[in-house]
Formats: sequence, C-alpha cells, structure tokens
Amino acid sequence: MNKFWSDCIRGLQPYTPGEQPRIRGLIKLNTNENPYPPSPAAIDAIRQAACGDLRLYPDPEGTELQRTIAGSFGLSENQVFLGNGSDEVLAFVFLALLKHERPVFFPDITYSFYPVYCALFDIAYETIPLDGTFRIDIADYRRQNGGIVLANPNAPTGSALDREEVRELLEMTPGSVVVVDEAYVDFGAVSAVSLVKEFDNLLVVRTLSKSHSLAGLRVGFAIGNPSLIEALRLVKNCFNSYPLDRLALAGAEAALRDREYFEETRRKIMADRERLASEIASLDFEVFPSSANFLFVSHSDYDAADLMRLLRERRILVRHFKGERISRFLRISVGLPEECDALVNALREIFRQRPAI
Ligand SMILES: *Cc1c(COP(=O)(O)O)cnc(C)c1O
Repeated sequence: MNKFWSDCIRGLQPYTPGEQPRIRGLIKLNTNENPYPPSPAAIDAIRQAACGDLRLYPDPEGTELQRTIAGSFGLSENQVFLGNGSDEVLAFVFLALLKHERPVFFPDITYSFYPVYCALFDIAYETIPLDGTFRIDIADYRRQNGGIVLANPNAPTGSALDREEVRELLEMTPGSVVVVDEAYVDFGAVSAVSLVKEFDNLLVVRTLSKSHSLAGLRVGFAIGNPSLIEALRLVKNCFNSYPLDRLALAGAEAALRDREYFEETRRKIMADRERLASEIASLDFEVFPSSANFLFVSHSDYDAADLMRLLRERRILVRHFKGERISRFLRISVGLPEECDALVNALREIFRQRPAI
C-alpha cells in the first residue's frame, strides 16, 4: 500500500484469473478456453483489418457487429451492447443497473468476478446458497432485491436452468433486473435471449471467448430491452469511447458469420465432454452433469489441491477453488481428445503410485 493510493482502492481483493503459463507444452485445462483455433475466416478478417486503416479510430458503437448480432437473434441494433470481453460488459452492468438500496442477489458458488465488481463499485450484495445438489433453486430468489445475476450454465458447477425457470424468475421479480450470464450457453444449455422481447427486466450477457475460440480477442456483448442497453451505453461513453478495436470488430463479425465452423467445434466439445465425464467417473470421481465446456469433479479419497499439484507435475493444469463449499472439487476444461486422454492417463498413474487409504 502506498500513500498515493485513493482510499476507495485500499482493501480491494481482485479477481484471480486462472494461470496463463509462460512455459510452452503444458496441457491447459484450467481456464475453459476453447481447444480449437478460431474460425479461419476470423483470422483472415483480422489479417485484412491489420492495414493502414489502423491509424483511424474504430466505430465507437461497432454498428456493423451490433447489426450482425441483432440480426442473428431477430432483434434490432438498439437491443445490443458490445464490450471488451463480457467481463467489461458485466462491469458496466453492475454499475449501470445493479447499484441500488436493496442488495443484488447471486449464488454463493458462481463466477467469482461478481463480488469483485460489487466491491469496486460499492454495491450491496447478498449471496444465495446453491441447494444441496449444487443447483440454483429459483424459489430462493423470491424476495425484494436490487437485481439478480445468474451464470447459466453456472460456473464452476456446469449445471443449467431451463428457459421456464428463467421465465418464472423474470415474472417473480418484475421490479428488478435479471442478468443471465450465458458465457457457456452454446455447450448445451437453452438461451434466454428469446425472452428479451417479452421482459423489459432481462439482460443476457454473452462472450465470444469460449464457444467462438476468441478469448484472446476480447469481445463480449449484452442483449436486452433498449432502455437497459441505453444505460450501458451511457456508462461506456463515460469510460472509453472505443472498447473494441478494429481487429476485434472484424474478427468477431467473421467468427459469428461462420456458423458451420461454430457448430462443428461446439459439437466436438460436447461429445468429448461426455466421453471424458464417463472416463473420469470410472476412476471413482463424482462428476456433475455439465452443460458447459468443463467438468466439476471430486474424489472422496484424494484431496483436490493435492491432485491439482500432482497433475501440474505431469504438465497438466486444472483449476481448484479455495471456497469452503467447493474446496473438494476440481474444474477441468474439456480439451482436445488427446489432451483429455493425457489427463485420464495421468490420473490413473497418480492413483497407481498413491493408492487411496
Ligand atoms: C469466462 C467467463 C466470462 C468472461 O468472459 P470474457 O468475455 O472473456 O471476459 C464471464 N462470465 C463467465 C461465467 C465466464 O466463465
């Protein structure tokens, strides 16, 4: 701490992203990146955009990309907001729509950036425990609140709500905004976007980082009623006129247009997830059903932090969270088939060398 620091940043606890190792050749199953490269069309578009036009500022609203996204959902441009990754979109959402007298609600086990935004923007919040099977029970949200934020599918558990549950939640709390963070929705959950026309209190947040293999490009967006989108635009224009650069706008547009590549890669990942789930279960892990590109697993005979370390010694990274209720679990991203095989083989080897007591 330093005497020059502003008071409001003293004591902030930042979000801890998963490790991005500098060493090459590690098998990275720790940050839910897509194991496949982005669409070749996206890479081409980025190459094309890397030209003399970079001397010019990009379109501040990213109108063309907004139009492409809106069109793909049968919505209009004023129902779409773009940001530098969905993390930035979420930051604007917390400030623009969730800072009220009443606390914002989110699950006790969910994306751990939510409480970080609350602390940064001084927003009151209350965490609602997941039920005994680590699922969200929407009945627990039937109380006055300053807004609700749910990741669907939830992270790190991978479990999803269906559209009727989201609808019920929206009907239950017409006076507050319900934010559905759909970072993983393309891996097998049902999107709430079709409810945007019906509910003025719904905001859906999406990212190209996971299902479009573009974590490195930083493109996220929100979809909702024009008045919610207007609030986000206001905050954005008080912060940064150009959150998406020319390369990001071009690459995102091309990636979204390449439906065939998107369908092919997400189907491969879903199929490999099921195969990995059954192989891990056969090693006596408890494996939660997942609608995302990762598995949430625990083993009754082995400490999760030990397993993570032993896997790291074998050059495989997985994620372990320290939270009290989830310290027994590992979150494992679905990699390439050969990476999943390497993980299963490494686990077998660990169990052979260190038999359970
Ligand atoms: C990965 C992730 C994000 C952030 O995605 P970016 O668009 O890369 O910032 C947001 N929410 C959840 C639940 C995530 O897992």
